[in-house]
Amino acid sequence: MENNNVIKTDNDLIKYIRHIGDSNLKKCFQCGTCSSVCPLSTEDRPFPRKEMLMAGWGLKDKLAADLNPWLCYYCGECSKNCPRKAEPGELMMSLRRFLISAYDFTGISRLLYKSKFGELIALLAVAILIFVEWVVLFGLTPHGATLNQAVSPDKIDYFFDWPLTVFLGVVLTSFIFNMFKKTVLDDKSVKVPLKLYITEGWSLLFNFFTQYRYAKCDDDNRSFLTKLKEGKYNFWLTHLFLMISYVSLFVAIVFFLDWFQDESSLPLLHVVLFDYFASIGLVFGTAYFIIKRFTKKIERSKFSHHTDWMFVALLFLTGVTGVMLRAAIVYKYSVPVIFYIYLIHLLILFPMLVIEVPFSKWSHLAYRPVAIYFANLKEKAKKLQTAGSIAAQPETVPSEK
Ligand code: SF4
Ligand code: SF4
Repeated sequence: MENNNVIKTDNDLIKYIRHIGDSNLKKCFQCGTCSSVCPLSTEDRPFPRKEMLMAGWGLKDKLAADLNPWLCYYCGECSKNCPRKAEPGELMMSLRRFLISAYDFTGISRLLYKSKFGELIALLAVAILIFVEWVVLFGLTPHGATLNQAVSPDKIDYFFDWPLTVFLGVVLTSFIFNMFKKTVLDDKSVKVPLKLYITEGWSLLFNFFTQYRYAKCDDDNRSFLTKLKEGKYNFWLTHLFLMISYVSLFVAIVFFLDWFQDESSLPLLHVVLFDYFASIGLVFGTAYFIIKRFTKKIERSKFSHHTDWMFVALLFLTGVTGVMLRAAIVYKYSVPVIFYIYLIHLLILFPMLVIEVPFSKWSHLAYRPVAIYFANLKEKAKKLQTAGSIAAQPETVPSEK
């Protein structure tokens, strides 16, 4: 007779987790120090000890339904204090990579995480596609007298920006729905009332636009201002600046491209200022993270997977070519120069957006706030359920003797 209580170890998952990070699962002896020192772990949601155990046993479905890896912001306190140097902080990072590939039903993420060459080939394939599209639409040399004649903003909108926006919207939404199914719908222990989805909606926006949990991710209990002065929030603020620059540039270029392609001697001042602000955010933000990864001085930058390097490198190059393009337009370089810088910029930008946003590192920007939202929903729904079941219990009337 089959014994349903036997836990099956998924050796393939254990190998995969080893491949996508540098934790030492075998060294963990479940002392629990990591969970007790973690500044973000709570009594209701303790981590990362439980994740060390589940990963060590290869409990794939349980891990795929786990939201905790997204609640960790890799301060590294657990790794610093682990008596066995099992690197639990790094395990949480590997689990975030595992989760990105678990939500993606196409299998592309897993391929990118498993193989450097797989990632390079995917990026190259998109670059070739963009190149062919460009040549078909605009040719190999600029024929028009002005930039807008050579590279029509309308054609860029219709054939590049809008199809990309639809593609990203559809793919990311379907992956987030898959995440919702695995973590909320399939969890039979809790049923979230419809009203909560609306009343808790603020946490989704708040966490997306502030990434506030980064600020809480350390064991230093001194005041906010003291820590700000000492540069304790540099990582958080740089990450936030980078994210805001990146998202606002994306929105602006998709919806207001003709402003950015303005060749007049005095393009709208606010457009130029905004463009410079966002491009500087992109270039300096990524340079900061590249330096951190090279120097390995802080816990969260100690280990780097090839997808981390690829992401920051592509973001940096996108920022640099974006600044070059803006400078070439403002300083009125010849149309052929602008034409080729434009093409190079798109050959870097599009592969990054098509591959990195839904299938790799970038997707954490979407999954993190969504995970915090789902975790809040489940916690509140559980509290309501508990309160409801207490209220439903019949009052015990003391019996008369
Ligand atoms: S990861 Fe380290 S601190 Fe955490 S339970 Fe295992 S041995 Fe203990
Ligand atoms: S890295 Fe920091 S936030 Fe993440 S589990 Fe470890 S102690 Fe907690």
